[in-house]
Amino acid sequence: MKKQHPKHEQTLVVLKPDGIQRSLIGEIIKRFEQLGLKLTAVKMLVPTADFVKKHYTLDPEWPLKTGQKTIKAYHDRGLKHPVSDDPLKVSEVILQKLIRYMTSGPVVAMVWQGAHAVEMVRKLVGGTEPRTSDVGTIRGDYVLDSYAMSDIDGRSIRNLIHASGSVTEADMEIPLWFKQEEIVEYKLVQEAILYDVNLDGLLE
Ligand code: GDP
Ligand code: MG
Repeated sequence: MKKQHPKHEQTLVVLKPDGIQRSLIGEIIKRFEQLGLKLTAVKMLVPTADFVKKHYTLDPEWPLKTGQKTIKAYHDRGLKHPVSDDPLKVSEVILQKLIRYMTSGPVVAMVWQGAHAVEMVRKLVGGTEPRTSDVGTIRGDYVLDSYAMSDIDGRSIRNLIHASGSVTEADMEIPLWFKQEEIVEYKLVQEAILYDVNLDGLLE
């Protein structure tokens, strides 16, 4: 049975090939650790094209949502999307570029657990486009890519990291990347403070 308390929530994080090549593995892990989340699974691998496609199409709504988001980003700048007005056509092109990007080198996949893990990780990760993602976020602080530049160069936008967008997405993505036995259930000492109800027993 799934545990209901918010502290049991899990999310999938994947450090993309550019994140590894920029030597940001430690820096990114540090942010999630410092927040209070618990690392419960981690591995390095080079994903296949089929696997990347499966990952991005687990959510049947992803193609529509992603196409709409991208078209809107262009509209917000008073521009028309260079490929199409049809969100599904736009996302098909995005997916092909994503496959090239994600299979170009090793990635590091992780499961992070803790209160509101999905939302908290997305907050630290920032918006999809580094050009507009907030200062203080991983995508805002460590990389400078844009839709405009990636479109000129015919490639995926490089934003260092993937993080599940919702609890539903996390619940589909985690079993794709990890077998149940690869996810370790353990107590982290700091949880005694983060989730303790009374904070009694601190004083001698
Ligand atoms: P995320 O949840 O913020 O990672 O964004 P999405 O799930 O919408 O898209 C997945 C990934 O596809 C992004 O992280 C980008 O690497 C890439 N991507 C998304 N939209 C675009 C786009 O409009 N153009 C390009 N070139 N890449 C995109
Ligand atoms: Mg996403």
